[in-house]
Formats: sequence, C-alpha cells, structure tokens
Amino acid sequence: AKSNGRGTVHLFDPALSEAARQRRVLEAELRTALAENQFELHYQPLVELGGQRTVGVEALLRWRHPERGLVSPVLFIPLAEEMGFIVPLGDWVIRQACRDAAKWPDHVVVAVNVSGIQLHQKGFAASVLAALREAGLAPGRLEVEITESVLIDESEASLDNLETLRAAGIRFAMDDFGTGYSSLSYLRRFPIDKIKIDRSFMKDAQTNADALAIIRAIAGLGASLGITTLVEGVETEEQLGIARAEGIDQVQGYLFSRPQPKAEIEGKLG
Ligand code: C2E
Ligand code: CA
Ligand code: CA
Ligand code: CA
Repeated sequence: AKSNGRGTVHLFDPALSEAARQRRVLEAELRTALAENQFELHYQPLVELGGQRTVGVEALLRWRHPERGLVSPVLFIPLAEEMGFIVPLGDWVIRQACRDAAKWPDHVVVAVNVSGIQLHQKGFAASVLAALREAGLAPGRLEVEITESVLIDESEASLDNLETLRAAGIRFAMDDFGTGYSSLSYLRRFPIDKIKIDRSFMKDAQTNADALAIIRAIAGLGASLGITTLVEGVETEEQLGIARAEGIDQVQGYLFSRPQPKAEIEGKLG
C-alpha cells in the first residue's frame, strides 16, 4: 500500500485500513476508560494447602465498557502494552490494589501483574513505593507477578527497580512458569519468592505423565531453594489432590473461586 509520487500506483487495502481504524478506536477508548473510571479489579484467592486458607488474592484487571460490557484483559492488555498505555494503566492497578488491600486482614497478600514495559521504566519502583505509602499498606503485603520474558531483556532500569523493591520488602512471583524461555539461572540471579506453575501443566497432569513430572520437579526445586510453589488452574478435587500429593504449597483456581469483584471477595477473607 504505497501512494504518492509521480508514476506510482495507489494501492488501497480496505481490510488493512479497517483493522487500523478499529485499532485507533480502541486506543482512544482505552484512554477515555482510564479517565472515566471504567476499569475495575477482580480478585481471586491464593489458597495455602496446609490449612486450606486464603493467604492472598491476585488482582485481575477488567474493563467495564459502556456498550460491550465486561472486557477481558487478554483483549486489551497487548494493545495497551504496544501503545505504552500499560504504564499509566498499570500504575492505576497498583494504586487500586494497595488501597483495597489496606482494608483487609494483615495475613492477606495482594498480587498484581506487572508488564515488562512497566518494570523497564525508570520511575517504576518509586511509583510502587508511593502507592504503598499513600495506601498505608506494608510492603510485605504486596506481591509483584512478572513473567520470565521480563527477565530476558534485563535493562539497568529493570534491575534497579527489582533491587529497590526487593530491598523495601516487596515479594516477587514468577508467573506462568514453564511456558516461556524458562531458565533456571533466573532463580539464582533474581530474588524470586514464588513460582506460579502455568495452568497448562495442571490441565494435562491427569492424562500426561510428563506434565505431572514437571509439576513434581518444580515442587522439589521450590522446596530445596526455599521458594513457594503455586499451581494455577485448579478446577477439580482430583487436581487439588495432585497438588497436595506433589507437595505444592499454594493453589489457585475455579475450584475455590473465580475472580470476583472486591465486594464479594471481602466477605471471604476472614
Ligand atoms: P494470569 O496472570 O496468568 O492470570 C490468571 C488467569 O487465569 C486469569 O485470567 C484467571 O481468571 C484465570 N484462571 C484462574 N483460575 C482458573 C481456572 O481454574 N481455570 C481457568 N481456565 N482459568 C483460570 P484473566 O483474568 O482473564 O487474565 C488473563 C491475563 O491477563 C492474566 O493471566 C495476565 O497475564 C493478564 N492480566 C490481568 N490483569 C492484569 C494487569 O493488571 N496487568 C497486566 N499487565 N496483565 C494483567
Ligand atoms: Ca498472574
Ligand atoms: Ca499465570
Ligand atoms: Ca497466564
């Protein structure tokens, strides 16, 4: 699709232009959404297997679109990342999560998903610490979930942020473990407190010996390195049994609860 200049042909691709138009609409809507408070956090329990009690909740972003209803983060986070909008949006998530968690019992940790783009921003650690201070939340009650890909392109800024936050007492969880370019060296070089085993492993564990073996191996790794292990996507009693049998520390999944609005989760945090 090139145009202009004498003697060149103007090629017009209507499909391409329609996609580009939709994207521009969505970009504009995202910015309006933040200004007009259309985002909300839903929370899903993180359950400790020992006493089967809720030791934390993961904050999961939702967009309450005026016409389209509740929009899943998988539909707008990638675009928000591409347009850099994840920085102000992610900042809002952290502030809101800290404010909410400040009202909850002390043993409940709040976990937030942080994009690599946020972590690579120079002022990221400072903005997290400001959010904690403003909310009056102890740093030990915030858990930052990052994926392995974040650690691949380590920048000076991201290492600074990690160190500053770590020194302040914030915890780090490695999200979706086993799906990315897993490198065990990350576990030595970065101060990871928790490994979240991607739900694809639990999904297959009953039928696939390799998936089960991987869960078992990560549980062993966590135990010997002093890293908490959590399995995502526990939907059935059988899967819960597997997590128990393999010595996993924590579980998360629909068996216990779907992500729920703050008001609904608050009643269950006693
Ligand atoms: P994630 O961090 O891996 O979050 C877990 C996802 O698994 C959530 O999807 C959750 O609803 C879903 N889930 C939990 N238990 C089960 C289960 O038992 N079975 C099944 N099938 N699914 C389960 P959700 O809320 O749609 O979020 C999708 C992804 O969007 C998240 O995956 C995360 O990568 C991203 N995301 C969500 N909120 C944020 C945010 O505030 N910031 C950033 N950067 N990303 C976010
Ligand atoms: Ca997560
Ligand atoms: Ca995950
Ligand atoms: Ca995931």
